[in-house]
This record gives sequence, C-alpha cells and structure tokens, in this order.
Amino acid sequence: MHNDELRRYLEFYQDLGVKTLYKRAAPAKPVTIVSPEPEPPTMIELPPLAPAGDSMAAIRADIGDCKRCRLCQQRNKIVFGSGNESARLVFVGEGPGADEDASGLPFVGRAGQLLTQMIEGTAAKEGIAIKRPDVYICNVVKCRPPENRAPEADEMEICGQFLSRQLLTISPKAICVLGATAAKALLNTKIGVTKMRGEWQKWRDIPVMVTYHPSYLLRQYNQNAKREAWEDLKKVLHFVYD
Ligand code: SF4
Repeated sequence: MHNDELRRYLEFYQDLGVKTLYKRAAPAKPVTIVSPEPEPPTMIELPPLAPAGDSMAAIRADIGDCKRCRLCQQRNKIVFGSGNESARLVFVGEGPGADEDASGLPFVGRAGQLLTQMIEGTAAKEGIAIKRPDVYICNVVKCRPPENRAPEADEMEICGQFLSRQLLTISPKAICVLGATAAKALLNTKIGVTKMRGEWQKWRDIPVMVTYHPSYLLRQYNQNAKREAWEDLKKVLHFVYD
C-alpha cells in the first residue's frame, strides 16, 4: 500500500473515531531472534474507503437491509436521510426516534418540527430564501436505538462509514451538528455543546458548527439554549448562503 493511500486510510478512520488500526505480529520464537527490534506491525484488513464516483444511491444500496450492528434488531425502517442531495448545508443528528423509525424519514417528530421551524424561521427573518427541502438532514446512526438511548461508540463507528460517505458525496459548504453525541462521532471530541457552540470546527476541510439538539431545546428549562441555538443557526445560514 502506498504512503498516500495509507495516509488517507488513517485520516478516514481517525475521522470516524477509530483509534486502533494495527495489531502486532506474533512474537518470533526465542531461538529465531537475531535482533532486539520488535516485529513491524501488520495492518488488519480494512473496509474500503468511499469508492470513486460514489453517489447517494450507491450508499443506500450498500446499506441494503443492514445488519452490521445490533441496532438492526428492533428497527422498523432504516432512516437514510432526506433533502437536497447537492445541498450546501447538511444537518447531522445522532439517530432516529420513534416517529422517524416508523416513517423512515429523519426529524419528523416534535424535535424535527422544531428544527424545521428553526431553519425556515431563521432564514425568513434573515432574508435568506431557503426552506427545509433545500438542506440535507441525516443522522450518525440510521436505525433507532431502543428506548431512545444514545448510540454506543461501536454502533456509531460502524454506521459512521455511511455518514462519512454521505458527507463526502454531498460535499456541503458547512455542516451543522446537532447535539453532543453527534459531535463526538464526527469530531472525535468529548467537549460539551455548551463549550463548542458558536465557534467553527472542521470535519476534513468542511466547516462544522455544533449546536444543541432540538429535543434538548424542547425542554422548558432550556430556553436560554434555544436563544443560543438560534444565534448559531443564524451564523451558519449567513456563512453558507450570503
Ligand atoms: S445503525 Fe447503521 S450499521 Fe447499524 S444496522 Fe442500522 S444501518 Fe446498519
């Protein structure tokens, strides 16, 4: 494998939060040791990077009736994503809830309605002519975690390969990440939303704004966060559409 290719692999899996890509070769038997140097590490077999000429249809076809992680067990529908596949702005949440699992569409429940209202309301107020169908919306994991629990690290790692391919295919001008779990998956960080929000981060070369998940904003006592989320969205919309 050439160095460039190896570097791309490492960057790709680092972006997905994968930390261990190597395993040591079995140690040589004592009688055969002629040098104190350890055996060089051997690379484990890795799944392919996004194929050349990737497309949303190809990614959906690859997902198929996916059983790659335990979230397949209780799901009704795989929630791939929806919106403009050439969007300049992509929203990424953590995973489908009950309404999404039933409909197969992302962000259609109460939190989704709030997100739509935030996108369209802020755009209208700022004089930016976009509606929800103009952006693309998806999640880190495509199947609903039982009881709406947060997706586990391994589930996000496995399903994250499809999110990465979606983002590379759409190649938006910016990504708006909703909530700490999605931020952790995409940016490989443990920093909370309160500290990250309002400032630009990066996923590969794409600017990323982390803000609160709309379901968090639905709680009465989080009204201050609501104002901050609106500010974040305003910043993102002006950056992308001005
Ligand atoms: S969450 Fe993703 S990886 Fe897991 S079963 Fe669903 S589509 Fe497959």
